[in-house]
Amino acid sequence: MRVELSVVVPMFNEEAVLPLFVDRLRPVLDRIGATYEVVAVDDGSSDLTAATLQRFKRNWPQLRVLRLRTNSGHQAAISAGLVEARGDWMVTIDADLQDPPEVIAEMLEVGRRDRVDVIYGVRTDRSTDTAFKRGTAKLFYTTMRRISGVDAPVDAGDFRMMSRATVDAVNALPAHGRVIRLAVPTLGFPSASVGYRRDERAAGSSKYPLAKMLRLTADSITGFSQAPLRFATWFGLGGFVLAFAMLILAVIRKLEGDAVSGWPSTVVIVAGFAGLQLLCLGILGEYVGRIHMSLQGRPTYYIAYDSLNDELGGPPVGPDPAGESLPSNRPTTRPSAGL
Ligand code: UDP
Ligand code: MG
Repeated sequence: MRVELSVVVPMFNEEAVLPLFVDRLRPVLDRIGATYEVVAVDDGSSDLTAATLQRFKRNWPQLRVLRLRTNSGHQAAISAGLVEARGDWMVTIDADLQDPPEVIAEMLEVGRRDRVDVIYGVRTDRSTDTAFKRGTAKLFYTTMRRISGVDAPVDAGDFRMMSRATVDAVNALPAHGRVIRLAVPTLGFPSASVGYRRDERAAGSSKYPLAKMLRLTADSITGFSQAPLRFATWFGLGGFVLAFAMLILAVIRKLEGDAVSGWPSTVVIVAGFAGLQLLCLGILGEYVGRIHMSLQGRPTYYIAYDSLNDELGGPPVGPDPAGESLPSNRPTTRPSAGL
């Protein structure tokens, strides 16, 4: 069966919101006028997400369940879904109903009508997000636009529809530190956008703690910009000029016979430059770390189970139905899993 639309949904401990999500998503898709599949990517949930998905699957044949072995993160979960999804069009959407499923129909319409490759869901109203979330998000998008030159639509999260060609291009990119919301605009494919009002999370709590947000920011900056490296260079250069000026000043003072100058200024300068050097080393480390991770080529996720394999009768990717369990870290052999 040809699948015209795949809906990729990353889920991490979303048992609370899952029934609400299914209730709202299914009627939209059943009416959309395209053959579809929903690829629910269970990102190593420790609650009842997996069991709940299986329960829904019994009455919803288009629901496909993909389970990752461990919690691999939002971006890796989306990546896994995009590799496995079979649709001509693919849309990625959060499970918490902050992105309204009804917009998917509009996106598909725009995509077909305007013949574009990417349809961004752009939040026209974020008043339901906390002030902290809005502030940090604004800082993120404006900084990224400025330092990377990536023309990422401000306030476009990971709610977007993509053509098969776009997804193939994304899948071919290095998997490590992938930030899909920046990688897609970088491709520069023809695009359109659809505005929507971002709702409050329907149930459960955010799965994006500060640490994960910082990780995404570090990946975004180091993955798409060399500005920090240049910043280190400029600071180093500035420091050198300053030191040279001070040297001249010291010589002048010495000539004037005013040789005893206070040591606090010396200490401050030494400490200041030591700090700056460490900062620059840290920046360098971030980039070297990325190279290191990429060279190792470790998959960013491991697939434990794919319900499609049961249906097609293919070799099991996950726990063997015969009871023989696979080694716990068996990597997926799928194409994008490596670099
Ligand atoms: N998510 C995931 N893995 C993670 C964290 C989040 O798959 O490690 C999913 C989560 O289930 C949700 C989406 O990513 O569907 C966005 O997360 P969330 O709504 O918690 O983020 P927020 O809206 O608070 O930024
Ligand atoms: Mg959310």
